[in-house]
Amino acid sequence: MDIIPCPKCNKALIKRTREICPKCFQKDNEEYRKVTSIIRGNPSITLSEVSNIANISMSTLLRWKRYGRI
Ligand SMILES: [Zn+2]
Repeated sequence: MDIIPCPKCNKALIKRTREICPKCFQKDNEEYRKVTSIIRGNPSITLSEVSNIANISMSTLLRWKRYGRI
């Protein structure tokens, strides 16, 4: 059983299919929708610009990128 810190709130969680705790999962999904609509509207945008516009941390964006979500 792997215990990992939640990347958003640092709470310990058991690593299963998600890499994020249930509490942050919903917020993460909302932020993800925001980010994908920004990228769709401006495909040449950089991650740091997305981070500024959507007010989402680079670490969150890089995590999505790592998992191939953006
Ligand atoms: Zn969390």
